[in-house]
Amino acid sequence: MKVKVESFKIVCDCCGDTFHDGNGFVCFVDDFDGGMIRIEAESSGWISMGDKHYCSDCFTIDDEKRIVTKNGHKFDYDTREEIKKE
Ligand SMILES: [Zn+2]
Repeated sequence: MKVKVESFKIVCDCCGDTFHDGNGFVCFVDDFDGGMIRIEAESSGWISMGDKHYCSDCFTIDDEKRIVTKNGHKFDYDTREEIKKE
């Protein structure tokens, strides 16, 4: 028989790309809270801030250790909190 499983994949909040390896998108069947896929994506150059994820093409880290995303968000690198524009 076949049984449907639920899991998580990671999608870039900027370009919409899905975290994948050479074989297709990545997910883990026993990843009940999405923690495993998050760690796997981060080890491949993605970055996570809470519920937001950005692929390596969509963010840079500036001179003041801020994560700057291509779609205009800034986050503190250490706290991963968004820096709101004043
Ligand atoms: Zn992206």
